[in-house]
Amino acid sequence: MPRYVYDFSETKNPQAVQKLLGNKGAQLAEMTAIGLPVPSGFTIATTACAHYFLNKSAWPKTLDAEVKAQLSKLEKKMGKKLGDQNDPLLVSVRSGSYVSMPGMMETILNLGLNDASVRGLAQKTGNFRFAFDCYRRLIQMFGDVCMNVPMEHFEKALRDLREKRKVQFDYELSSDDLKDLVQSYKKIVSKHSGRPFPQDPREQLQIAINAVFDSWNSERAIAYRRINKIPDEAGTGVNIQAMVFGNKGPTSGTGVAFTRNPSNGEKVFYGEFLMNAQGEDVVAGIRTPEPIANLAKVNPAAHKQLVGIVSKLEKHYRDMQDFEFTIEEGKLFMLQTRAGKRTAPAAVRIAVDMVREKMISKEEAVLRVKPDQLDQLLHKQLDPAAMAKETPVAKGLPASPGAAVGQVVFDSKDAVEMVHKNEGLKLVLVRPETSPEDIEGMHVAQGILTSTGGLTSHAAVVARGMGKPCVCGTTAVHVDVSKNLFRIKTPTGEKTVKKGDYVSIDGATGEVFIGTLSVIDPVLSKDFEILMGWADSMRTLRVRANADTPDDAKKARGFGAEGIGLCRTEHMFFEPSRILPMREMILSDSADARKAALEKLLPFQQKDFEGIFEAMDGLPVIIRLLDPPLHEFLPQKESEIRELAQTMGVTVEKIHHVAHALHEFNPMLGFRGCRLPMVYPEIAQMQARAIFQAALAVKKRGIKPLPEIEVPLVGFVRELEIVTTIIRDVARQSGAQGSIHYKVGTMIEIPRACVAAGELAKSAEFFSFGTNDLTQTTLGFSRDDAGRFIGTYLEKKVFVSDPFASIDQSGVGELMKMAVAKARAVQKNVDIGICGEHGGDPASVEFCHAIGLSNVSCSPYRVPIARLAAAQAAIKEKKTGKKK
Ligand code: PEP
Ligand code: MG
Repeated sequence: MPRYVYDFSETKNPQAVQKLLGNKGAQLAEMTAIGLPVPSGFTIATTACAHYFLNKSAWPKTLDAEVKAQLSKLEKKMGKKLGDQNDPLLVSVRSGSYVSMPGMMETILNLGLNDASVRGLAQKTGNFRFAFDCYRRLIQMFGDVCMNVPMEHFEKALRDLREKRKVQFDYELSSDDLKDLVQSYKKIVSKHSGRPFPQDPREQLQIAINAVFDSWNSERAIAYRRINKIPDEAGTGVNIQAMVFGNKGPTSGTGVAFTRNPSNGEKVFYGEFLMNAQGEDVVAGIRTPEPIANLAKVNPAAHKQLVGIVSKLEKHYRDMQDFEFTIEEGKLFMLQTRAGKRTAPAAVRIAVDMVREKMISKEEAVLRVKPDQLDQLLHKQLDPAAMAKETPVAKGLPASPGAAVGQVVFDSKDAVEMVHKNEGLKLVLVRPETSPEDIEGMHVAQGILTSTGGLTSHAAVVARGMGKPCVCGTTAVHVDVSKNLFRIKTPTGEKTVKKGDYVSIDGATGEVFIGTLSVIDPVLSKDFEILMGWADSMRTLRVRANADTPDDAKKARGFGAEGIGLCRTEHMFFEPSRILPMREMILSDSADARKAALEKLLPFQQKDFEGIFEAMDGLPVIIRLLDPPLHEFLPQKESEIRELAQTMGVTVEKIHHVAHALHEFNPMLGFRGCRLPMVYPEIAQMQARAIFQAALAVKKRGIKPLPEIEVPLVGFVRELEIVTTIIRDVARQSGAQGSIHYKVGTMIEIPRACVAAGELAKSAEFFSFGTNDLTQTTLGFSRDDAGRFIGTYLEKKVFVSDPFASIDQSGVGELMKMAVAKARAVQKNVDIGICGEHGGDPASVEFCHAIGLSNVSCSPYRVPIARLAAAQAAIKEKKTGKKK
């Protein structure tokens, strides 16, 4: 029979059983093992939750007996009994899956109180007010979580009572007030659930355990799992732990702290606390907590003990920790600890500092920063010049760095719907505070602004995890969600900002501006350079960039690109001065007319290539021949067609005729790629001439061009041979042969190219996987139309991630492996890269490393992400010795 329940103190190697116990359970056991003051308790394993869902909410047969046995052990240890009339044991019941899902599942505190034991607690502590406050909190939480009573009924009763007593805060209510409140709450429970609040503490416990299990499948937990790719079948653990109280009076309190600053990474003890409060008061951001440094004045002994715990935690976990503590009548208890979520700048600084402090190795440092997180570092900031001209209308807490400029929205569901209707919409979510229900709204917004809540509030923690800019605790902002507006007092009077108005927020300074401010590229820190230097020394995959202009090429080189992996030449033809000769070329009736039009395009192409070669001096540049179907260059609107006819002196009918002739049922599988130069060799001739003339021109200026000319959409070796011959002929005619070091290679974009890779390797001097096309051709999913059903496929788990974003390893990936093997069997060291969107996706980069590609190529902003992902792939492979 499998075992389901484990005492915190009996687990010897908690990390090894994290999947079984859940993150929180393993952490509690580990903290206990290293001698931290943890209240006693036990954990119900995640396997019990999995069983519950597989068996129509039935517990495993032995679970009830195991819980009972552990509970009596706990009662013995604490010298108190659950529900005892004289001195009751109270417990918390908390969730905890194998990875932390902050705030996504349920918690019940003060369990074990009932009409009799509340009096015992009052007598034992001599504090009636405290006992009834605990009891009303239990009824409220239990009613909400376990009996589906909407929270607003409890909140209304509490608000009414405060108004009746003319007080502002809950703690100003007397013990008699709270006794009355308990009666009101019990009535609310009966009225709205049809059942009385259960008085039997063991029944309470059983119901609470089920409620925690059920919360695994709450809407927000499911959404969080989807966003964070956590498997549905993992299940949550349930932790049952003796309660300690932060709300027992002025010598009690509670707090959340980090061993280092999670926003910028500085090595300072960082956190917040509230005296006379329970944990959720801090996290929910309802009262604004005090900075941890003030604890040194309020309770110097506890502060000193916490400082000791900070170094103990870091020494043991060798990482920045985020922990919760409670002080009960002066005595400190640790409630939980976990690796702290941090911003990208903090992640980089902490990783580099910990190497300096000899706490971790360089490899570990490189593994500590999530590649996707770098996006945050590389993303834009509000332009200081624009900021200097504008006066911020408010300043909140700088909770998560980055700039967000967008239209204000006050409701998360609204935000999701608006973005669903208009994908490019930029929104800033403004809330009094956020709660886990806001997770999807936060996900679609550019940034988050809240009026209450500290740096450890829900908004701050979740935004940092998502890498979204966030300003919280902006007390000058008065949010009226019901009216879809916020008011703000400024030196020039009160301003009202309505839904749809623009604001700009700076998550690094906490400043809020009305209107749209310009944004600038980020400045990268010295620590970032150091970390990337380590990463570069560890990786074997080279990283190139997809860039079509000299500017993008420069940017890419600045981000560390080691060449260009894809220059899409067609992008050069869309500028107003170039589109006309392009259209002339398409409308030409003869090869001569086509050549004449192409002749006009040549100088433009040549100039662009010169700029790109200059930016990539000494580095290889893959230039792909024209790829898209020609109709893409023709105007669509009737008015534009008329205008073009007039400019070119041709009839409207002629343009219609050509457009009709070029019409394709599926242009992605039509007259495009190498099929264009097969029919119109003069296109490839012009492009090759532009490349070689540009190379010769820059060479004269002392620059070293390394062009690699790439033929798209090849399936047959004959296609490649024919186009290669065209290119080599031009090389000879233009005088580049022998003086310019160039290569001719091909993309692998259709399954036939994978199958024929050995044949192709007899002609190609390099390969590059065009996984955008290879995915659509392998899956038979049109790139342009798949968006309509990919969401459903993800929901129904046909695949776990979008195959156009992350390589479909078992399908497309297998074809890639085969192609690599066949190509390398013919040319052992041939360069094989990837230039589809997947080249900047960390999981795909890891796959490309494992199957032995030579390089990956991605958009300039993703180059550092790919560099880091490539290093991590190499380190992991070294550790596990595994190859795909
Ligand atoms: C590809 O197909 O992966 C590719 C890079 O080419 P494009 O996206 O331009 O078709
Ligand atoms: Mg392609």
